[in-house]
Amino acid sequence: MDHQALAQLLFPQVTETPDDMEAKFPQRELPEGAVVTRMAPSPTGFVHLGNLVQGMISERMAHQSGGVLFLRVEDTDAKREVPGAVEILIDTLKHYGIQFDEGATHGGDNGLYGPYRQRQRAAIYHVFAKKLVSEGKAYPCFCTEAELSAIREQQEANKETTGYYGKYAIWRDRSIEEIQAQLNAGNPWVLRFRSEGSIENQFKFDDLVKGKLTITENDVDHVLLKSDGIPTYHFAHAVDDQLMRTTHVVRGDEWLPSLPFHIQLFKALGFKLPKYVHIGPLMKMDGNSKRKLSKRKDPELALTYYKAEGFSVQAMREYLMTVLNSNFEDWRRANADADIDTFKFSPKKLNPAGSLFDYAKLVDVSKNVISKMTAEEVFKLLVEWAEEFDRDFAEKLNADPAFATAILAIGRGGKKPRKDLATWKEAKPYMGFFYDEYLEAPEFANSFASTVIRTVLEKFLETYDPADDSSAWFEKVKAITEEIGFTADMKAYKADPTAYPGNVADVSTFIRQAVTGKTNSPDLYTVMQILGKERTEQRIRKVLASLS
Ligand code: GLU
Repeated sequence: MDHQALAQLLFPQVTETPDDMEAKFPQRELPEGAVVTRMAPSPTGFVHLGNLVQGMISERMAHQSGGVLFLRVEDTDAKREVPGAVEILIDTLKHYGIQFDEGATHGGDNGLYGPYRQRQRAAIYHVFAKKLVSEGKAYPCFCTEAELSAIREQQEANKETTGYYGKYAIWRDRSIEEIQAQLNAGNPWVLRFRSEGSIENQFKFDDLVKGKLTITENDVDHVLLKSDGIPTYHFAHAVDDQLMRTTHVVRGDEWLPSLPFHIQLFKALGFKLPKYVHIGPLMKMDGNSKRKLSKRKDPELALTYYKAEGFSVQAMREYLMTVLNSNFEDWRRANADADIDTFKFSPKKLNPAGSLFDYAKLVDVSKNVISKMTAEEVFKLLVEWAEEFDRDFAEKLNADPAFATAILAIGRGGKKPRKDLATWKEAKPYMGFFYDEYLEAPEFANSFASTVIRTVLEKFLETYDPADDSSAWFEKVKAITEEIGFTADMKAYKADPTAYPGNVADVSTFIRQAVTGKTNSPDLYTVMQILGKERTEQRIRKVLASLS
């Protein structure tokens, strides 16, 4: 067979050579050890936690080494494409602090190694396809769907592995005349790789996450170009990562089964194999067993979920790094205030089997992160969230930023800051009572007569002086406690609760409920200071009126 002639027959329009391509996309000039990596999503519009994990890993590996992170859009499957998906992905990742140095952008491309959308690269793939054909490493296959099904059925009946290989690869050795006849008849064809591999052979491979792997050679003549001339992922990945000068391929480990073929393909094309970082899936506990997070079952897989709940970007990044690198938590303990990007991420510290996603832990990490923010920071982020998800609340917050910031400052600073909030969604239930419109009427415990509650509130109004400091304020509450026959001595009360009708905590609760509508609130003295004398008294008077 004259391979050159076949190559010319199949790709008459291709005039450029692989060398032309190599010259057009020269090696990058980067410091020694710089990682060039990419995100290569299919534009399906659904951005999930897995994308963020991959994004964070890629971003860290690129930027901490002085390398490059670029975005390549793998849009070869037009059926799955959702309009606007690329923009959604770019914006979402940007929101989480992941910025691409190069690649697809809103409505265009940025960089010297493009185009960065695979459908626009058809001519480039064809140059390499022609090369493979000219070297006898690829050939056209004119099998129809029906023929392929028949092959599969026969293999199943024989209990053999299914696929286009060995004696089943029926177009492997056809003559150029047969091929020409098919072309003349206008029959569609795909380009297949001619595999020289054998499943009898194994070799070792080092993955940066999975470690040493023993790999069985591929013997299937996989499709390189589909009948519309658009490449499969496998072929596109090899050509693109070569020409875009990718040093590290960071991707999900669902690609591991294709790795034998990819290695073979890089070799056949004369490309240097990049390093591979195969990330395990995100798992969750389901009862007593672990399972992969699923798009169908787990709303927490979608990144929109975290945004709507109001998890801050900082908390998400902090939490994911905790999950991704086993030494991160120790580092954080030793470097409490350091910028997360000064942590040295290592793919070797990823769990090869996949990372366990634990919502309770996320909440914990998030509380910590928020507790370390200033009131001003919290205000800014909370307003940003509320403007999107709770307009009414946003309006209230924006109406008096100083008031809101004072509320958010409660218990902040110092060695042991309060950890009231894990999400922005929790802010309204936590602090809404400060706003009259959100204040709820208190429900006092039935165990106390309303006359007792009345008396407490009346006495409080008589003595309340906002100029008191917090201990003077509390002394007054204690005095009221004793006056109504309750005890301010909690020890004595605990020793014999039957000896008193109530205690100082009960009295504080009556006042707290009258002022905040709730049995739980941040420090009551401070709450009153922020509300001011008039509003505090007004609230108590209103409750008194309702008690009569
Ligand atoms: N388009 C592939 C995916 O979304 C990319 C895999 C890769 O990064 O190479 O899974």
